[in-house]
Amino acid sequence: MTQIEPGAIRSIAVVGGGTAGWMSAVLLNHALRGSDVRITVVESAEIGIVGVGEATIPPILDFLDLVGVDRDMFVRETQATIKLGIRFQDWKDVGEHYWHPFGSFGCVIDRRPFHHHLQRAAARGEPRGVVDFSLGAALAQAGRFTPPDPKAGLARAGLRYALHFDAALVARTLRKVAEGRGVERLERTVVETRRTAEGHVDALVFREGDRLAADLFIDCSGFRGLLIEGAMAAGYEDWTHWLPCDRAVAGPTALTGQAQLYTLSQALDAGWRWRIPLQHRVGNGYVYSSRHIEDQAALDDLARQVGGDFLAEPRQLRFTTGRRKAFWKGNVVALGLASGFLEPLESTSIHLVTSGLYKLLDHFPDRSFDPTNIAAYNAALIEEYDTIRDFILAHYCLSERRDTPFWRDVTSQPLPDSLRARIDLYRASGRSPCRQGDLFADVNWYYVLHGLGLRPRNPDPLTCLSDAQAVRGVLDQLASDVRGGVAAAR
Ligand SMILES: Cc1cc2nc3c(=O)[nH]c(=O)nc-3n(C[C@H](O)[C@H](O)[C@H](O)COP(=O)(O)OP(=O)(O)OC[C@H]3O[C@@H](n4cnc5c(N)ncnc54)[C@H](O)[C@@H]3O)c2cc1C
Repeated sequence: MTQIEPGAIRSIAVVGGGTAGWMSAVLLNHALRGSDVRITVVESAEIGIVGVGEATIPPILDFLDLVGVDRDMFVRETQATIKLGIRFQDWKDVGEHYWHPFGSFGCVIDRRPFHHHLQRAAARGEPRGVVDFSLGAALAQAGRFTPPDPKAGLARAGLRYALHFDAALVARTLRKVAEGRGVERLERTVVETRRTAEGHVDALVFREGDRLAADLFIDCSGFRGLLIEGAMAAGYEDWTHWLPCDRAVAGPTALTGQAQLYTLSQALDAGWRWRIPLQHRVGNGYVYSSRHIEDQAALDDLARQVGGDFLAEPRQLRFTTGRRKAFWKGNVVALGLASGFLEPLESTSIHLVTSGLYKLLDHFPDRSFDPTNIAAYNAALIEEYDTIRDFILAHYCLSERRDTPFWRDVTSQPLPDSLRARIDLYRASGRSPCRQGDLFADVNWYYVLHGLGLRPRNPDPLTCLSDAQAVRGVLDQLASDVRGGVAAAR
């Protein structure tokens, strides 16, 4: 064991044994391997986990690789399936759809990103679109998969995928990994927190009568935010006025036929539904606004859409979209649902757990808990949350649907200035500026804004300077590459 420096963190208590809690335990254990920092996860048998959260995005695989969790074992244990992207059905208008696939899209031509050339070509009458140039979208549509292969042409080299998995099995699998590596687990219910004179959390007091002291507390207690709100009163920024969906009803159905390789997101009268195929069942849910539809009507709608019996009683969940005003306060860091909740529309919640964890490592504290370090962490995560909020909101506000009160409301509301400016710029030039490290790059904005029918008035002027014939040749080559990738897949 490496001797720790005076003032270093000696013990970490993670409150919560859901996806966020066990991901935190596994990553912190990995990052602190070789030290004698004690990590304890506290989870309550009576409270349980939220039990949803089944669609991910590709960085989940990087997370597994980083912490040394074998992908094949993880897929087996969590009944996971491949996800190549999301099919957005009925969002632009009823009967229309678009894809938000993973992986590369074409190639850079004369230093201009591919989608700018495609916009230029489309303005000249080019009929091909996302499915012709994205192998992820083409495979998802064809129901076939082939692993990425750096030696098999651009399209296969750039292919990326994520997983659909069973949330309860994820917690169980990561728990097994963490415990096997020395993380301690306490099955207890926290009923009180002890605070120091300076307001830091000192110890957790359990209903069972004992207590746990630690230097650093990770709050993964779910929506209730037991420490970050209950003890530290961080405050919550409520985004319901932008993202009005505040409930979901979720129920599994049997898997019939082959599992689709994508998440289906279908817009409904007062929100949208997901369909997530796993190896052993299909996860379904309707995310809706309680101002626009009654709970029973939402359940009836979902039942109609899934076209089969639920395998278990559908569960109702309530939430308030938004985020904590501070994710880290004193010696408490909130991750997962305790940190906030954005709709699961783009599968960003679990990703925000990893992103928060990586940033925590970048700002790992000592026991002085320097406020400037904490402020830097909060600023970075707030920026990430707010940008993802804008991305999700774009799906609603740009819809052409006006067929129900819900769609009339979400398409007529005032927008955050940041999103308004982005949409105006895209309309003018097809550009969507992003910072390095942003989860959603300009091509992701392109998939969604283009999919919802937005067309720039003036595509990137520099694409005009590229030789049109040569660009056509590149497009043909890429489309052939994609067709070849689909043909080679099973
Ligand atoms: C409808 C819906 C759909 C979603 N879909 C997706 C999706 O497709 N993709 C995605 O990335 N995310 C999705 N999410 C979010 C995802 O479910 C969560 O981000 C993820 O499951 C992490 O949850 P958690 O661990 O923070 O909380 P939870 O799973 O709620 O775990 C909380 C833990 O805290 C413990 N606890 C609470 N209070 C106490 C106490 N007093 N004492 C001791 N222990 C306590 C509980 O025992 C439990 O172990 C969805 C969320 C919802 C609501």
